[in-house]
Amino acid sequence: MTSKLKEALQALGPADADLYKCVHCGLCLSSCPTYLETGLETESPRGRIALMKAVREGKVGFTEQVVPHMELCLQCRACEAVCPSGVPYGRLMEATRAQIQQAHPGSLMRRLALWVAFRSLLPHPRRLYRLGSLLRLYQRSPLFSLARRIPGRLGQIQEQLPLVPKGFFRPRAEAFNPTGEVRARVGLLSGCVMPIAQGPTMEAAVRLLVRNGCRVLVPPAQVCCGALNLHGGDREGARRMARRNIDAFLDAGVEAIVVASAGCGSTMKEYRHLLEDDAEYQERAWWFSEMVKDVSEFLTTLPLALPDKRKGLRVTYQDACHLAHAQRITQQPRELLRRIPGVELVEMEDASRCCGAAGLYTTLQPQMSRQLMERKVEAVLKTGADVVVSGNPGCIIQMQAGLRRAGSQVRVMHLVELLDEAYGDSRGHP
Ligand code: SF4
Ligand code: SF4
Repeated sequence: MTSKLKEALQALGPADADLYKCVHCGLCLSSCPTYLETGLETESPRGRIALMKAVREGKVGFTEQVVPHMELCLQCRACEAVCPSGVPYGRLMEATRAQIQQAHPGSLMRRLALWVAFRSLLPHPRRLYRLGSLLRLYQRSPLFSLARRIPGRLGQIQEQLPLVPKGFFRPRAEAFNPTGEVRARVGLLSGCVMPIAQGPTMEAAVRLLVRNGCRVLVPPAQVCCGALNLHGGDREGARRMARRNIDAFLDAGVEAIVVASAGCGSTMKEYRHLLEDDAEYQERAWWFSEMVKDVSEFLTTLPLALPDKRKGLRVTYQDACHLAHAQRITQQPRELLRRIPGVELVEMEDASRCCGAAGLYTTLQPQMSRQLMERKVEAVLKTGADVVVSGNPGCIIQMQAGLRRAGSQVRVMHLVELLDEAYGDSRGHP
C-alpha cells in the first residue's frame, strides 16, 4: 500500500477506511457462493462493496436496486478469507445491514417478527426453553405430520425444523468436575438454539472436556451470543448480550471460554470490536475475546486420550463458514477426526463452501439456501461417507434436512459427538 493511500485511509473513519481497502482485484469472486450460483457482479463481494461505496458517497440510496443484493449475501466471509488487501467484509456487511434496518425497517409483520426474535426471545433463555417445550409438543402431535405435507413454503419450513429431542441442556451453578487432576478450568457457552435442539451434543462436549481433565462451568447468567441480532442489523441488541456474557464468564473465573458453535465462537471472538467504543467494557471485551476458543481449537491443546475402539467409519468433514473463514480453523477438526481409531477421513468437494444455513437465511432467502444445500448434499453423497461431521449447529440442521430430503441414511454429527462416541459409553451428564 502506498503511503499516500495509507494517509487517505487514516483520514477516513475506521468503517470507511475498511471500505476503501478494496482494490477491485476480483480474487474473491471464485470463493463467493452467491456469485458462483448467479454469475452476477452485483451478487459478488466486489459488487457489493462497490454498492456500499456508492451509498457512502451519496450516489445511490438503499433502494430496491441495492438492498436485495445485500440481503442475498450469506455473510459467510469466504471472500474475507482470500482477500489479499485484508478487507474485513464481515464487519462491513454487519454495518450495512444495520443501516438498511434503520432506513427500511420493513412491513409491520417483519418488524414484529424481528422484534419478537431479537428483543423478546433471544436475550431470555427461560422463554427459549418454554418455546422449545411447545415446539416439542407440536412435533409429537399429528398436526406436525400434516403440516409437513403442505405444499409450498409452509411445508418446507416444517421439513427443515430440527426434531427437538427429549431432554434440554441447561446451564447450572455447580461445575462439572473431572475424577482426577484438574488440568484446566473452562467455561462452556450454552447458547440459544443448541441447548434446545442439540442438547445431546452439549452433553457430549461436557463429557469430552471432563474426561480430559477439565472442570467445566456453564454459568447460568449467560445468554445467546448475539450473532443473529448482529447479522440481522440489531447491533445494539447484540452489544447488550455481549456485556451480559462478558460479566457471566469473567466473573466465573475461567481460563478459557469453549464454544461448540462456530457462528457463536466467531461473534464472541469479535466482542472486542463490538464494544471498542464502550469505555466501561472495552478492556473486559478484549480479554474475553482472547479467551474464546472453538472446542476443536481447545481440544487439540489437550493431551486428548481416545480409547482404541475400532469403529470402521468413513467420515467426511464440512467446514462451517464461521470456523473456516471467520476463525481460520480448518486443520484442528481434521486432526481430531484422524485421531479417532478406525475413522477414515475422506474430503468432499468444496468442503468450505457454504451449505446455505447462515442463521435466518433459510427462512429469508429460501431459494438460494435450497440451491446451496442441494450442492452440499451432492458433495457429501459423492464421498460415500457414513457420517458427515461439522462444528456448527446451523450447518448440522441444514444438512440433516437436505440428506433427509434426498432419502439418504448418512448421519450428520457434531465433531464432539463423534469423539465422545469413540469412548463407547456416552450417556447423559458425566
Ligand atoms: S474484497 Fe478483496 S479480493 Fe475482493 S475485490 Fe476487493 S480487494 Fe479484491
Ligand atoms: S460473505 Fe459470502 S456470500 Fe457474502 S459476498 Fe462474501 S463470499 Fe459472497
